Order: sequence, then structure tokens, then C-alpha cells
Amino acid sequence: MDFSLDAKQQELVNLAREIAQKEIAPRALDIDKSGVMDEDLLHILKQSGMTQLAVPKEYGGAGLDLLTGAMISEELAKGCAGVATVCAANSLASFPILIGGTDEQKKEYFDCLNAGGISCFALTEPGAGSDAGAVSCRAKKVDGGYVLNGTKCFITNAPICDKITLFANTRESGGIRGLTVFTVDRNTPGISIGKEEDKMGIRASATSEIIFDDCFVPASARIGREGMGFRIAMQTLETSRPVVGAISVGIAQAALENAIHYAHQRKQFGQKIASFEMVQEMIANMVTKTEAARALVYKACWLQMHGDKQASMFSAMSKCFASDVAMEVTTTAVQVMGGNGYSRENPNEKYMRDAKIM
Ligand SMILES: Cc1cc2nc3c(=O)[nH]c(=O)nc-3n(C[C@H](O)[C@H](O)[C@H](O)COP(=O)(O)OP(=O)(O)OC[C@H]3O[C@@H](n4cnc5c(N)ncnc54)[C@H](O)[C@@H]3O)c2cc1C
Repeated sequence: MDFSLDAKQQELVNLAREIAQKEIAPRALDIDKSGVMDEDLLHILKQSGMTQLAVPKEYGGAGLDLLTGAMISEELAKGCAGVATVCAANSLASFPILIGGTDEQKKEYFDCLNAGGISCFALTEPGAGSDAGAVSCRAKKVDGGYVLNGTKCFITNAPICDKITLFANTRESGGIRGLTVFTVDRNTPGISIGKEEDKMGIRASATSEIIFDDCFVPASARIGREGMGFRIAMQTLETSRPVVGAISVGIAQAALENAIHYAHQRKQFGQKIASFEMVQEMIANMVTKTEAARALVYKACWLQMHGDKQASMFSAMSKCFASDVAMEVTTTAVQVMGGNGYSRENPNEKYMRDAKIM
């Protein structure tokens, strides 16, 4: 198993680190307070290719493998997990197109992303969360295409999107056999963006409802055959889990670095708190668990890239473990900082809120 990158891949990871340090981290607390990512930062992400991480070489992208994409997500998340989520959601929405799209569909979709387009993955509904097969958004077959009706909720990037990767049901009776994927332009008549969520964390990413009201899409908007949606959704989520794990690792890394820095500044009882063994133990555990999570995430990526039969299991384990580690490490980081850790003047309480969604 080899996690080394070639020069081009390393260059992109370095670029993500630089953007996170220079452009994202300095604005992260303000964005967290307002809940709105500024246009300037979004522009930087688009220009630098951070919103096009899933675009293959043959469609004008960098053609990154999953491991490099995960490493980039980790770097962005060190600056702000919400910003990393905006970029990762573009990849999430791209995977169904990569899995089931025709050459023409891929070209149109990735041209949009290459031009700075933002995309969203619209699966969840008020009545279909964990139970993705319960999707009731209807795609009724009509002459030349489909008419879409229904409401999606909790959709990351929906308020700023240009493209929607939609899961709707072509069967009136519902069920997973009717679940079908569509690629839909945001500006199609009949689409409106609903209530925006006022979230606990990852507040740089905008999350909202999307309402489809007698929205006609041509048959060419359908990705794959009718009924392939559930398989495509599961494959997509499986591919993306290590990326969520990588964002979790980025949050944990940022929190522990902040805690270590603080422990070397803060003095109590006439000494730096870093000299106290119980503080050292907290830091040692944070570092160990973050490294373990990173190793599991990288391994999950590598197994997927090599089509290993254990890839699915490792993908799930990496997300599960890394997100738990992020929660634990960020909570401990708040503890290391004492009262200051609880203050919104410091990023540690934000890291803790951001970690909860992973
Ligand atoms: C910030 C944010 C961004 C999101 N972005 C997107 C997005 O871009 N696209 C998208 O499609 N969705 C998105 N979602 C939705 C997300 O995928 C769902 O919240 C998730 O699938 C869980 O569904 P739910 O919220 O309806 O919870 P529910 O399914 O109602 O679950 C509630 C609780 O019950 C538990 N539970 C459910 N079923 C079982 C079971 N069988 N056994 C044991 N326990 C169970 C769950 O673990 C959970 O603890 C987002 C959500 C949030 C909060």
C-alpha cells in the first residue's frame, strides 16, 4: 500500500493547504458567525480548481484519484470544514454522473463545473432520510421527458447551485425499483429553493430545500436507466465516505494544533500547562487518534482505487471512525483551552460544532 503522490498531485494538495492557511482560516470565524461564505472566497475556490476535484482529465479536469481528493479535502477542512464541504458536495453530486452518465451528459455537466458551476446531490426528503429508498419525489414519464414534483431537504449547496443531481421515483407506487437519477439545471422552470437551514456547524456551506413543481425535464436528463438510482446512490455514498473521513481528520488536526499551541502559551501555577502530565496525556491521545483516523481514511481510499473487495467495509469504517475521532479530539481541544476553549473568539468550539455533522 503506497500513499505517496506524484508531483502534480502533491502540487494540488500544497495549493489546498496554502488556500486554507491564507484565504480560508482567516475568514472562518466571520463566515461561521454570518453563515454566509463571501463571493470572493467562492471565486478563489472555483479558480483554483477546488470545486472541480471530481472532474476527469478527459473532461478538462485534473483527473484526481480518490486519495488525492481526500488529502485536498483534509487540507481545506483544516481551514474550515464548511468550506471543504462546499467543494466535497460538488464531488458528491458528480459521482452519479461519472457512474451512470453518457459521454454527452458528462461533457455538459463537467463543462458547467469547469466554468465555475456549483452542483448539489439531492437525495434526502422530509420522509426519506436514512431510508433513502423511501424517496417520493415523483418523475412522471410524459412525451419527450419527465415531469418532476416533490420536495428535497437538507441539500448542501442548493442555494448556490447551477446543477442538481436529483433522485426521483419513476414509479407511482414508489420503492427502490423506481428510484432514478436526473441531472437538472437549476434554472429549469418549476424549481424553487426553499427554506435555508440555520445550522449548528459547517455554516460556510449553504443547506436548503429544493421544491419541484411540475418541472419538465427532457429524457436526456435521465442518468442511466429508470430504476438504477438506488444502486447509483449507494455506490456514490460508498465512494464519498472516505472524503467525509478526510474532512473529519482535517478538523481534528486543526483542533489539536490549536490546542498544542495554546498549551505552550498558557501558564498556570507558574508553568506552561503543556508541562502538566494530564494535559500531555490529552494531547498524546489526540495526536494518536488523529493519525489512526488518517491512516484508515487513506487505506479506504487506496482499497477503492484498487477495486479491493473490502473497499466498501473500509469506506464505512473510515467515515465512522474518523468522524468519532473528530468529535472526541475537538471536545478535548476545548478542554485543553479551559474557559477560552468555550469562547467563540477561538476556533475550537467551532471545530467541535463542525465535527458533529460528520
Ligand atoms: C448539514 C447537512 C447537510 C446535508 N446535506 C445533504 C445533501 O447534500 N444531500 C442529501 O441528499 N442529504 C443531505 N443531508 C441529509 C442527510 O443525509 C440526512 O440527514 C441523513 O441521511 C439522515 O436522515 P434524517 O436526518 O432524516 O434522519 P433519520 O433517518 O430520521 O434518523 C434519525 C435517527 O434515527 C436513526 N435511525 C434511522 N434509521 C435507523 C435504523 N434502521 N436503525 C437504527 N437507527 C436508525 C438515525 O441514525 C438517527 O439517529 C444533509 C444533512 C445535514 C444535517
